[in-house]
Amino acid sequence: MRRVALCIIGGGLTGLAAAYRAASKYGVSTLLLEAGERVGGLLLSEFVEEYLFDVGGSHILFSKSEKRLRSLLRHLRRVGWFVHRRVTRIYLRGGFVKYPFEVGLADLPPETRARVLKGMIAAARERAKPSNFLEWIYAVFGEGMAEEYLIPYNRKLWKTPLEEITLEWVGGRVPNPPLDDIIKAAVGETVEAYTHQLVFMYPKKGGIEALARGVAADAEESGAEILTSAPVERVEHLGNRLRVEYGGGEIECDRVVYTAPLTAAPKIIDDLSSESRALLSRLKSVPLAVVGIGARVRPPFIHWVYFPGEETVFHRLAVLSRYSAYNAPRGGASFIAEVSFRSVDELRGVSDDAIVRKVVEGMEYVGLIKASDVEVASVWRWEHAYPVYDVARSEALKRVIPELKGLGIVPAGRFGAWEYLNMDAVYSRGTEAADEALVHVDRRTADEGR
Ligand SMILES: Cc1cc2nc3c(=O)[nH]c(=O)nc-3n(C[C@H](O)[C@H](O)[C@H](O)COP(=O)(O)OP(=O)(O)OC[C@H]3O[C@@H](n4cnc5c(N)ncnc54)[C@H](O)[C@@H]3O)c2cc1C
Repeated sequence: MRRVALCIIGGGLTGLAAAYRAASKYGVSTLLLEAGERVGGLLLSEFVEEYLFDVGGSHILFSKSEKRLRSLLRHLRRVGWFVHRRVTRIYLRGGFVKYPFEVGLADLPPETRARVLKGMIAAARERAKPSNFLEWIYAVFGEGMAEEYLIPYNRKLWKTPLEEITLEWVGGRVPNPPLDDIIKAAVGETVEAYTHQLVFMYPKKGGIEALARGVAADAEESGAEILTSAPVERVEHLGNRLRVEYGGGEIECDRVVYTAPLTAAPKIIDDLSSESRALLSRLKSVPLAVVGIGARVRPPFIHWVYFPGEETVFHRLAVLSRYSAYNAPRGGASFIAEVSFRSVDELRGVSDDAIVRKVVEGMEYVGLIKASDVEVASVWRWEHAYPVYDVARSEALKRVIPELKGLGIVPAGRFGAWEYLNMDAVYSRGTEAADEALVHVDRRTADEGR
């Protein structure tokens, strides 16, 4: 049987980054197996007639780390990228408020502004010690901002009681600017927050999939082999190596990097203990429908909008033709709406027509388009979009990750390790997973496989 040093399960950005690292830095034989017809995972983009949609939701490139950002952008050198200054809003009480909310207070009526400020000052005085996400929102932002925006928005997105979400989730993710800035913003000064995302990048052509394609091309040029339509069905641990069965083929490898959803591991990985199987069955994620709308309108001068209220079925709407003019025909605009669901059954139980109708109704209601402007509409469904950080997750990861590593399988990625990660972070995690897997690899196998 053919043998390689490293097998990578899943060709989303994590798997592609691992393949690129293994081939370019270590020069070892590397095989990436992707279940889908194309690599990319959540980073796929598709044309419907002349409208291009990022079918895994709105994706922009940004990072707190210049170095990480440069690593990603290097893979876009074939298509180039646009640099944008964020223009984003929150739709609240019938108007558009600057994002993040706390620096958009001047856009709100004076009584709401006062309520938010009073709540923030009271929270700062009280210094409560929160023990879950809901309490954290109240403790950090105060009652006004919590109830006007953060709680309704997060309930709409997570479809999970916020008191079940642990504090592990919040660190660094929810904008948390100083009180000083909020007071300045409330009296009308221009203040920015969440500044590492204020400027973002986006591929000139091909949508966000151009990034996945770029990493795949660089991995292949460095010697990695990528197989698509190759779903991994079984991984068997054979002492110092692993046997991997995939869509009709099989291969032996020294190590595996696993980036498919962890919830699929019990089906795939023979040697997983019954304790780990039970823990993994309790992992929760939020399913998502991404609805692409191509309309014959001038695109509004906005990148994306958050919708905490019940007036719309979507919690976020992005204007993709503002990310790149190549994403829509001249005189048209491409939009994507994100609609989250309570369960996979609920996601599957609703027809495309019904979701599109509700999305178009919402867009009409907020004044972005008229139903008669719509030229194309399409729906893409994702079983896993947001990993839920609850107690079950902490317990499962504590046990399962070391067990998998003990079998020679390094889990990584948004659902491979059940971590709420952006592209810059999964790129790093993929790179680190290859480093970790290859620490133990015998160079001779590496050479045999090439
Ligand atoms: C709505 C939304 C918006 C986002 N916006 C941004 C953003 O603006 N900026 C940002 O930086 N990040 C954003 N992200 C995060 C980003 O999408 C992820 O960090 C990244 O795409 C995750 O990559 P991954 O490889 O870990 O997972 P995935 O993309 O899920 O890839 C996993 C791959 O494994 C494959 N697979 C599954 N089972 C098997 C099997 N048995 N055998 C072989 N292959 C298998 C799948 O087909 C898939 O290709 C967003 C995410 C979402 C959901």
